Amino acid sequence: KADKRLGQHFLTDEDPIHAMLNAAGIHRKDCVLEIGPGLGVLTVKLCEKAGKVVAVEKGRNLIPVLKSTTRDFKNICIIEEDVLKLDLELLKEQYFNSDFKVVANLPYYITSPIVMKIVENRSMIKVAVVMVQKEVAHRLTALPGGKDYGILSIAVQLYADVDIVCEVGREAFIPPPKVDSAVVRILLRQEPRVMLEDEALFFKVVEAAFGERRKTIRNSLKGRLVFPGISLDKIDAALEQAGIDPTRRGETLSIKEFARLTAVLRH
Ligand code: SAM
Repeated sequence: KADKRLGQHFLTDEDPIHAMLNAAGIHRKDCVLEIGPGLGVLTVKLCEKAGKVVAVEKGRNLIPVLKSTTRDFKNICIIEEDVLKLDLELLKEQYFNSDFKVVANLPYYITSPIVMKIVENRSMIKVAVVMVQKEVAHRLTALPGGKDYGILSIAVQLYADVDIVCEVGREAFIPPPKVDSAVVRILLRQEPRVMLEDEALFFKVVEAAFGERRKTIRNSLKGRLVFPGISLDKIDAALEQAGIDPTRRGETLSIKEFARLTAVLRH
């Protein structure tokens, strides 16, 4: 029986599985980390195509089934663990000895922390192809100004190129989730989209800008304690120097503009 607390919704449709394998370009030489293999529908396909598969599953109830589904394969290791507790550096050393790909139909209740973990470990991950809620897929790929554009969009797009591979209806799963889904491909960049001298400050500015939507960037920077005591004159001068109209709303700024503004405010 599916454990809803662990986001257990199992794929029954083969089309999204093929789309995921194609998007990740899985070949014999590849090492693959699968998060939340569940009953193993995707896992067996990965085992057929990849060189090595490590599947990390927290749901104890699923491990015996998973072992049975994958019993014909020698290139699989099943780890019963919470993926958020896993040290990926160590996993790489112990199981792969090379960079790896991530392919997963994610448990939706922890989508953001898993995606952030993938981004943080970008130096060892070639590409991640993951099924997420459709709404999250839109946030991950959102451009400045739209309603889906926010801190998650920026945190991921700073270090990755993201695109939507396909949309997947709720009927493709058993039991069906309450939301529609989409497969996204996260191509990790070796160099960030913009060079940041002070990443912490960059994210403070971004947080201030998104703290209250519909405020102008000028008022967001003033209102929040990014720079305690900073005067509006100084903010105006910084915005002018960065070439940003002070009446623009914070959520219309691109990553490059946030970076420029951070650099000016820092000095
Ligand atoms: N891959 C399977 C499929 O496509 O049919 C199952 C996908 S289901 C949406 C998410 C899976 O993640 C479940 O099997 C669930 O038990 C597992 N899971 C939930 N939380 C987890 C965690 N913290 N670490 C690892 N796996 C987790």
